[in-house]
Amino acid sequence: MSRREAGFALHSWLAPPLQSGALMQTKQSSPWPVPRISPPLVFLGLLGGCGAASPEQSPVEVEGRTASTPSELTGRTRYDASCRPFNAALIDRSMFYARVVNESWAFQTCVRNTMNARYMNCNDPNASLSRSQQIERALDTMQIANNGIAFTCDDTNGDASAFNQGYRTPYQVTIFTQNAQNETNGDWPTYGADAGGGDDYEPWNWRTATMLHEFSHTMDYNHIDLYCRGTCGDSTCNFCSDPTCAWTTRCGGSGTPPSSVTSLATAGRAQQEYCAFRNRGDDTAYYQGGDPAFPYILSECAHNLIVESHEACGKATADGACGDWASLRLLSSWTGTASTEQSDTASCVCLDDPRKMVALRTSSGRALTAQLGGGGPVLTNYSDRVGAWQWFYMIDQSGGSLTSGDSVQLKSHWGHWLQTDYSVAGLTRKSHAIYRSDGLGPIGNGTSVYFYNTYVNPVTLASEPRYAYAGASTLAYSSALGSGSEYRFTVERPRRDTLVYLGATSIGRYVRIDSLGSWLAYADRTASEIATGSQRVRGEAALWLVDHNGGELMSGDSVSFETFYDDSYMYLGVEPGTGQARAETGIGPRERFVVTKVSGGDARIRHDDTIALRSATGHYLTAVSPGSGGQLTNASTLIGLPQRFTLRHVSQHDQPRPTW
Ligand SMILES: [Zn+2]
Repeated sequence: MSRREAGFALHSWLAPPLQSGALMQTKQSSPWPVPRISPPLVFLGLLGGCGAASPEQSPVEVEGRTASTPSELTGRTRYDASCRPFNAALIDRSMFYARVVNESWAFQTCVRNTMNARYMNCNDPNASLSRSQQIERALDTMQIANNGIAFTCDDTNGDASAFNQGYRTPYQVTIFTQNAQNETNGDWPTYGADAGGGDDYEPWNWRTATMLHEFSHTMDYNHIDLYCRGTCGDSTCNFCSDPTCAWTTRCGGSGTPPSSVTSLATAGRAQQEYCAFRNRGDDTAYYQGGDPAFPYILSECAHNLIVESHEACGKATADGACGDWASLRLLSSWTGTASTEQSDTASCVCLDDPRKMVALRTSSGRALTAQLGGGGPVLTNYSDRVGAWQWFYMIDQSGGSLTSGDSVQLKSHWGHWLQTDYSVAGLTRKSHAIYRSDGLGPIGNGTSVYFYNTYVNPVTLASEPRYAYAGASTLAYSSALGSGSEYRFTVERPRRDTLVYLGATSIGRYVRIDSLGSWLAYADRTASEIATGSQRVRGEAALWLVDHNGGELMSGDSVSFETFYDDSYMYLGVEPGTGQARAETGIGPRERFVVTKVSGGDARIRHDDTIALRSATGHYLTAVSPGSGGQLTNASTLIGLPQRFTLRHVSQHDQPRPTW
């Protein structure tokens, strides 16, 4: 049994909304971003500042939380109505970094070593276990948690925060980010041209750290922010005047808590000192070596891994270094603790995003379907289109890049895992071995694969291989791999990492998909509406670019456009004729467009390039002027002015003060 499966608890999936008592949560916030001076001092300085607020001490009631959206660090990410497209693009990329870093051996070694050196369990799970057990459980928690992640973007309590919501519970995780977040780095996919005036790896050092830090809070890991230490040179900061500090060494006491101090609750202001005494036998030990709280150890290791990897490995992202577009080049190992400087000649490794969004097609072209998003059998004859029920999250358990023979798990849109009987109705992960049909080698977009699991009979303990095959209507299994095509599936894994606006060049308007009303597409949004309109106005115009061949976007590629609005997948599509373009719930032939670069230069398509989009009918998407209705139609076999669109990356220009 793998470490990730060990100890995973079964929970009711359709959990009721949290009871009112459970709504009383402790809000946790982190002080990111701040300039990194040195790892131990940056947190000390912030938290120990004169009169530093401790917002995390007061329970905050969250209203409107529901348990309706199960997904996780390796699952679906949801944005609520407060998130602008820029927030979504930023969060999506931050989560990619967080997933890869969280999987890396260097990161896990850093966390393990740092916890050994300084971790203190002040108010964390597993307080009664040994330190080594606490460390392994904490690392487990970051791997196996089956929570949902929902982001809200109007947090006013610092840069990011999250709520404790129960150790390993399947409820929705909510992470708050600040609406004003404004990252000025110019070129997100490639670590950029230093446009923000900082280092090439910024802001991903900070954002990765934030995501992992906050995620751990949702798993009930804490930091303790009340203390007696430190003086500020004036009487208002003399915490020794607080009677609960009298026993501490800092305030002239013995350093041994009196018998009345039995818990954090009775330690009053001296909580850090009490925790240090309880964990390390020394009330002055709390910040020796850096912040001892798990969330800060995570954020420090994540931050420093990215910085140190950049020094040793250069650019971290795919187009600069690695083969897969969703991979990072990171140190392959870590020496010492989070604050240990790593060798600039240390070896590096390319690590893929462990979460791969894939569809699997049968030999007849149908896409495996988790009807209703999961909870039943996997259908084999339902659709040749790909939408929410056909996208699966494939989790590569073995790390590295996806290769023939790897162990993977498959998760449906609503968070159900593919089981050993090939239903997609379970709440616990089950592993499957995946192989290339033609033998060894990498598994990527377009690869033919077969897969199986080894079922262990719980009574006889006999092992039985179960090879998946496409039955007449559902996915089924056999004890041997057949030679027929029903045992083979084609992996589809388009590139999907850029959120764009499509500007109709001839009329100065932007394409949008009406996802709530007519289900039609228009070219009628003004730049002003895109810049300052409501989240719905902006969200319907922000489209994830789905590049079907998986590489860089090049002239001649087949692409689709996906809306991110309201947690549903919606795609730009056309009718069989030359009428108005539509919103569709899946990608079929009429939701694919061949992109042609018309702005000249090389074939690679970049931000602000001009393109034309040819549909399956052979017609080009055409912007009708607002005075004539503002529709987006499928009308012309030629590329004239109304068929030209400017492709604009949200990450480049969707700032609080747009420049266009
Ligand atoms: Zn925190």
